[in-house]
Amino acid sequence: MAAGLSMLPGPASRGQTATAKDRPNILFIMTDDHASHAMSCYGSKVNQTPNLDRIAKEGMRFTNSFCTNSICAPCRAVILTGKYSHLNGLIDNSVTFDGSQQTFPKLLQKAGYATAMIGKWHLKSDPTGFDYWNILPGQGVYYNPATIEMGVQQKHTGYVTDILTDQALGWLKARPGDKPFCLMFHHKAPHRNWQPGPKHLDLYEDVQIPEPDTLFDDYEGRGRAAKEQDMTVATTLTKADLKLTPPGGLTPEQKAAWDAAYGPRNKAFEEAGLEGRELVRWKYQRYMKDYLRCIASVDESVGRVLDYLDQSGLAGNTIVIYTSDQGFYLGDHGWFDKRFMYEESLRMPLLVRYPQEIQPGSVNSDIVLNLDFPETFLDYAGVSAPVDMQGWSLRPLLQGKTPANWRTSMYYHYYEFPAEHSVKRHYGVRTQRYKLIHFYNDIDEWELYDLQRDPHELKSVYNDPGYADVVQELKAELKRLRAHYNDTTGAPV
Ligand code: CA
Repeated sequence: MAAGLSMLPGPASRGQTATAKDRPNILFIMTDDHASHAMSCYGSKVNQTPNLDRIAKEGMRFTNSFCTNSICAPCRAVILTGKYSHLNGLIDNSVTFDGSQQTFPKLLQKAGYATAMIGKWHLKSDPTGFDYWNILPGQGVYYNPATIEMGVQQKHTGYVTDILTDQALGWLKARPGDKPFCLMFHHKAPHRNWQPGPKHLDLYEDVQIPEPDTLFDDYEGRGRAAKEQDMTVATTLTKADLKLTPPGGLTPEQKAAWDAAYGPRNKAFEEAGLEGRELVRWKYQRYMKDYLRCIASVDESVGRVLDYLDQSGLAGNTIVIYTSDQGFYLGDHGWFDKRFMYEESLRMPLLVRYPQEIQPGSVNSDIVLNLDFPETFLDYAGVSAPVDMQGWSLRPLLQGKTPANWRTSMYYHYYEFPAEHSVKRHYGVRTQRYKLIHFYNDIDEWELYDLQRDPHELKSVYNDPGYADVVQELKAELKRLRAHYNDTTGAPV
């Protein structure tokens, strides 16, 4: 860590050494937009994920794993570089990743690892630091996808999750046997617009998916940012998302046009289709069933890969990680999508299995970040992490020995505005109990949540005199974190 920041010391056990012989393999499985509350090992009320649960049962489940910028490409860049968005340059999805910079795959490759990247890359520039890569162009498509293998486009027939799994298993089987490996295996699923595999088209057909408590959130306890977003189940989901025209579901524009042409809609019109809450409920069911069907394919994919590790004898010396690039709103607050620093999209699922060091079925509630992943991998590979990486190795936590000086707060910064879904720029700090958010750019609003008393973040207590001391402390912490991470972007605290 940088000198002079004695209040933020790094954990003491960083950089344990490993000999060439015992260096573990690393299998990093990442999906796109998979919220942890759609995993049964995290207590999902909406689905079962037996194969993902295997990793939790045989390894460690993290309950406070967070991303530093809740949107696809920026999160991926943080994982590759171990640096916040303002330093790796990829602040939002419009930026092209500078692949010439330092990344952990390059360092592992240099240290003798066989490195591969298969699946969704989403960083515009070609992958660097990989002996082998085969990626989806851009977002990729669900059915009959193309992939780009080492710069050459290929066409495939079938469902994307199955095809990528075949490619990952193919690489594992053909990899050079004399080196440890690091495989980054990234699914497209369950990203919008949630197209299920043929096998799962009728899954949940006769089931009513439970609704979240906050499906009809009115945002009255919060500021303009929550009120002015454009990511609601009620009005933002399109026909392409729903794959059907909602019964009687007119857009606000269509309704306004009707009213202008014919006067206010009469009762007979209203009765012709669903309106109001019933229409939202109908859309929620359509959205969630397809989302969960995509996850069913992911779960099967993970099962196939775990089975292969068992059969090939690799399971004992392979670190298996399952995560997603951020969380997601599953109708929570009436939303889909991500971006906000609120809990559902700030959280990332994180499961890690490594039989040699991790107690089966263990659970960790320390604050960990996607920023920590690269230093964790380097630690296991016996490579000293470069001083300009900003995370900490999770290895002591995985061993069940959290250092006394482990972080008690995390820093977040989201940039993509103005843009799709209209989530305003904001940064903030989260501790185990509180969250302070500053929305800036075209507004200047603060929100404070007491997560113990208000876990759904329905009422900001920023202006509550009873929390004046908390606000003051968290602002000081926010300033300190911004200085520590060298973030001078955005409005001052
Ligand atoms: Ca994503």
